Amino acid sequence: MSIREARADAPDNLQREAKSVLATYVARVARVALLVDGFYLLFFWAVGSFWLSVVNVGSLLTYALVLFLLSRRRLRWAVILVWAEVLLHVVFGTLALGWEAGFHYFVLPFLPLVAIVESRRRAVALILLVVAYLVGLDVAVSITGPLAPIGPAPMVIVKWFNIIGFVAVLAVLARHYRAQIAAARVRLDRMALTDALTRLPNRHHFEQVWLHEVARHRRTGSPACLVLLDLDHFKRINDQHGHAAGDNVLRARAVLLRSALRDVDTVARWGGEEFLILMPETPLREGLQACDRLRRAIEAQEVPVGGQNLQGTASFGLTLIEARDALPSAVSRADAALYRSKQGGRNRVSADGDSAPDLQPGPA
Ligand code: GH3
Ligand code: MG
Ligand code: MG
Repeated sequence: MSIREARADAPDNLQREAKSVLATYVARVARVALLVDGFYLLFFWAVGSFWLSVVNVGSLLTYALVLFLLSRRRLRWAVILVWAEVLLHVVFGTLALGWEAGFHYFVLPFLPLVAIVESRRRAVALILLVVAYLVGLDVAVSITGPLAPIGPAPMVIVKWFNIIGFVAVLAVLARHYRAQIAAARVRLDRMALTDALTRLPNRHHFEQVWLHEVARHRRTGSPACLVLLDLDHFKRINDQHGHAAGDNVLRARAVLLRSALRDVDTVARWGGEEFLILMPETPLREGLQACDRLRRAIEAQEVPVGGQNLQGTASFGLTLIEARDALPSAVSRADAALYRSKQGGRNRVSADGDSAPDLQPGPA
């Protein structure tokens, strides 16, 4: 997939986020440039270089315009102006003072753009353009010689200032890319562990929590419950009110489950209209009571969809975690208990084995 396709594919919110990151970055560059060019304006004025002062007045106005454009959300024009300013400033500075002054360093930060341009052809074109620009400038200045030379001492100051400025620009650029990569990694991790519809942990995330909990159970021996929850007759909601209504109900149930459970409990979307809950430090009886509270809460919840309030129920299957448990075997025990709840008429809580009574709908 090309970068262009990947960009077109990116959801709107990601594209907006990328633009706002770029806008923040360009604004930062513009503010730093205002400081640098402000310094140069005074400096060239002080050493009597009228034309270079004028160049820096132009730069200051350009960066003020860049900040104005950013405030008006004209990001594309702001970026174009920054590029134009840098390229012109380098030409003026080099022709005025000569290659020695080191203005040409500021063209090099254009090269990392190779990493983000949309095709290989554009990347090669960009590299060739930078090379042609630098060679052309070198040839031009070797023919004309410095057009507005300054004394040797101010020249040393300009050269060092440009070296320091160039290193600073590269450092800011590197920091920007580093922050971008770190943010992308956090976003990817979050996406890899979260169910997109309900925002609950997904199956993969749950498996990690499970491993941690089983290890703890093995160490401490404290009881813990695993619960499989399935919404009753959910297909009817889709059939009667549409898939979007079904999605809304799933979201609402997810919010309810998350808010009704303790912080130490984990509730994940296991698939379709099934949720898996892990309750650490919970003996069977407490687990059954907690599930029955959830059952009543779901029964009472009304989900507004298209002017109607939809109601529904859920069935629960519960099992105690065992020391040598693997998640599939624990889930299959919970599933067997869930099956009993469904067979028993739905809207009820069952535990696997014969150790605990099933909890059936009754007065709240
Ligand atoms: P039961 O009481 O036996 O569980 O009946 P049910 O209708 O809930 O069970 P069944 O397994 O027959 O149907 C589950 C339905 O859940 C079918 C499927 O279309 C729907 N479903 C699964 N995932 C989603 C989803 O992400 N969004 C929506 N809207 N529906 C979904
Ligand atoms: Mg199901
Ligand atoms: Mg169901």
